[in-house]
Amino acid sequence: MALREIRIMGDPVLTKVCKEVTEVTPKIAELIDDMLETMYEANGVGLAAPQVGILKRIVTIDVGEGPIILINPRIVETSGEQTGDEGCLSLPGKAGCVTRPNYVKVRAFDENMQEFEMEGTELLARAFCHELEHLDGHMYTEKVEGGLHDVTYASEDEEE
Ligand code: ZN
Repeated sequence: MALREIRIMGDPVLTKVCKEVTEVTPKIAELIDDMLETMYEANGVGLAAPQVGILKRIVTIDVGEGPIILINPRIVETSGEQTGDEGCLSLPGKAGCVTRPNYVKVRAFDENMQEFEMEGTELLARAFCHELEHLDGHMYTEKVEGGLHDVTYASEDEEE
């Protein structure tokens, strides 16, 4: 496993539509491992492959309940609404208020290319929406209500 460089907003790779994964090759398996390591190192709750410069439809998420790997994910059901602060590893030190569904069901493939469904509420529902948008070249900043504000994470302070 290895850390990958997280691309920062302004990098054109973050505006591209990603390609479907047809087969989990050893290279894709390595990418997934690297994405998890990179996400944990950066204290993120989610990471999409384009954020490490790879235009494939792969997302990793961990909202504190263990790693979730989504390949070719699609949102199949949403309900409710939540409004709250959201940030992104590709825009460090910033956050903004975004309204999302409070419940989201996704359909995706796992590392064995077996299709599965997963439901999420609150933070997980928000992470599903945020990360899946990266796969189509979109950032949460397009949906921010009231502008971005600065945030300081304790973990960043410790690193400095
Ligand atoms: Zn993001």
